[in-house]
Amino acid sequence: MIEVECPNCHAKLKVPEQYAGRTGKCRSCGAEVSVPAAVAPATPAPPMPPPVPPPAYPPYPPARPASGGGMDALIPTKNPCALTAYYLGVFSLIPCIGLALAIPALILGIKGLSFYNQHPEAKGKAHALVGIIMGGLFTLIWGGLVLMMVLSAALHP
Ligand SMILES: [Zn+2]
Repeated sequence: MIEVECPNCHAKLKVPEQYAGRTGKCRSCGAEVSVPAAVAPATPAPPMPPPVPPPAYPPYPPARPASGGGMDALIPTKNPCALTAYYLGVFSLIPCIGLALAIPALILGIKGLSFYNQHPEAKGKAHALVGIIMGGLFTLIWGGLVLMMVLSAALHP
């Protein structure tokens, strides 16, 4: 429906769209009323903006570390020497950098073990032992390898 105002009596008239561009008679006063041909919404609607992708949800908050004894027994967070020794010992498997990791693993493992002996509640004995064993083993392996290479280079120039 098109809303037209009568120029004579200013009555608001509702005219069906099919009378657009024509003239009709005002229902209240009988005056001639011209119905506008083009009504505003005849223009095509502006193109819709591209749909905005939904906002990326922030990554899930990191899982809260379980508080309590169970987790501490597995990860000796209170014995950082033992924990570091453990990881250094494991990564001393890697050739080339292994020797650089195995020696501190051995040292930190010994420190972690003595820390455990003073503070048994801090846990980390197993981690410290892994650091000592892996660190000691790979200190020997990689150290021996380096020594052999040096000796071999010295003996066979
Ligand atoms: Zn009128």
